[in-house]
Amino acid sequence: MAEASTLMESILNLCKRRGFVFPSSDIYGGLNGFFDYGPLGVELKNNIKQAWWQDFVHRRDDIVGLDSSIIHHPTTWKASGHVENFTDPLVDCKESKMRYRADQLFFAPVRVAGETIGYVSVLEDEAMQAKADEAANDMKRKLAKQGVLEPIVLRDFTEAKPEEIEMIPSPATGKPGSLTPPRSFNMMFQTHVGAMQDASAVAYLRPETAQGIFINFKNVVDTGRVKVPFGIAQIGKAFRNEINPRNFIFRSREFEQMEIEYFISPEADWSAAHQEWIERCLAWFESIGIPRAKLSLYAHPKEKLAHYSKGTTDIMFEFPFGVQELQGVAARGDFDLTQHSNVSGQKLDWFEEATKQRFIPHVIEPSVGVDRVFLALLATAYHEDEVEGEKRSVLRLPPRIAPFKAAVFPLLKNKPELVARAKALHQRLQRRFNVFYDEAGAIGRRYRRQDEIGTPYGITIDFDTLEKDAGVTVRNRDTLEQVRMTEDEVVSFLDQKVHG
Ligand code: ATP
Repeated sequence: MAEASTLMESILNLCKRRGFVFPSSDIYGGLNGFFDYGPLGVELKNNIKQAWWQDFVHRRDDIVGLDSSIIHHPTTWKASGHVENFTDPLVDCKESKMRYRADQLFFAPVRVAGETIGYVSVLEDEAMQAKADEAANDMKRKLAKQGVLEPIVLRDFTEAKPEEIEMIPSPATGKPGSLTPPRSFNMMFQTHVGAMQDASAVAYLRPETAQGIFINFKNVVDTGRVKVPFGIAQIGKAFRNEINPRNFIFRSREFEQMEIEYFISPEADWSAAHQEWIERCLAWFESIGIPRAKLSLYAHPKEKLAHYSKGTTDIMFEFPFGVQELQGVAARGDFDLTQHSNVSGQKLDWFEEATKQRFIPHVIEPSVGVDRVFLALLATAYHEDEVEGEKRSVLRLPPRIAPFKAAVFPLLKNKPELVARAKALHQRLQRRFNVFYDEAGAIGRRYRRQDEIGTPYGITIDFDTLEKDAGVTVRNRDTLEQVRMTEDEVVSFLDQKVHG
């Protein structure tokens, strides 16, 4: 298995080389925080979304789907609190014009024998403590200070006192004096609707899909056959003007979310419902090939929660650059429906026939980014090993998620009977599955090309297929085992592997 830093490099390399993900607007030098999904990437991404939709919408009786517009009435975002509160603390370096998120910029005083000799600053990453320690040592040496260097205790920039801000060096220049105090920066992208460009026409690209669900609550209740408890699910793009997009598709400015608002009675045990959703989400990740051992839970401390929030637990994944949030599961009480009800003047409640009671439901919100799942899957599936003395890289993606479910090969390109039979099988399989056809090069090389993009099965038509009616060989990407089966059997074999 590749080391963490090289794993990330290998993934980036593979994504670009084989057409999973490209920097957006590549020919114009790219646009920071935006990505394009290539021919293989779009398949993988669609498979993630499809698996999620199948498992959480089609295979459940209590969740229905929705596809709301990306631009909502701007009042939506006033009611939800986003206009006022959807902000990150921004720090400018006046010298270099670089911008930092205050909670990702860490600093510490450097103290030698009780005296503060200066400050060090580092950007958040796995190695930041070591970097800060080294910078402090350098400072002590340069200033020729004698005595014991006290331990470097890092704090984030939101905790810097006004008199400290002056002394903290900018990570860009290494010199103090150019950093501004943090100020609130709203992350919503603004646009104008219609021909007027004035304030009355301001609208926002949605920073989450969730509010589209809340503002459609009444529509769904009035037209659907839903009954509390029930959920509304939505998959769609979200936009955030992140100060510091980083770690490839992990934090970008345009991404996709898969969100559910699960409405429960205010009398229900919200904590139990919350826990159930956490378990359900963990189980789903496992089912698509993200092992439990790489997942952990982080419960947000009570004092850091928004006033309306009853609890939020993040499902964390061990990304190559550190343990980071993959999904949030929040218990939001009745905050959103109450807000939209108050601001719109519409009743957004539920009438319970049995008890003849009206109430505003409470909600549990599992929210996950498609792009982060994509990256977690690549980080899990990517392996390097050796086959017949030759190095190969292989993506061990489950068949349900893999871009191609199988590849069909005639053993030789210059034998028309082999080619015709292979093409016929390819066409037959294509009606049900995304299947690749390849006749170019030695068979070993063709296998390798498919291993690298995660195709789980290689199907070869050889002379025994034609002459002895011996069926085709099906090679397993992971075990390398080859079994013979008839072409009819291949169809049901793949169906079983892909659809379970
Ligand atoms: P973070 O703390 O990482 O910024 P968040 O807590 O703001 O994330 P939420 O608002 O809870 O994120 O969004 C729900 C999910 O949407 C996240 O768990 C993540 O999977 C995804 N997501 C959020 N921001 C981004 C982004 N900038 N790029 C890609 N995915 C994102």
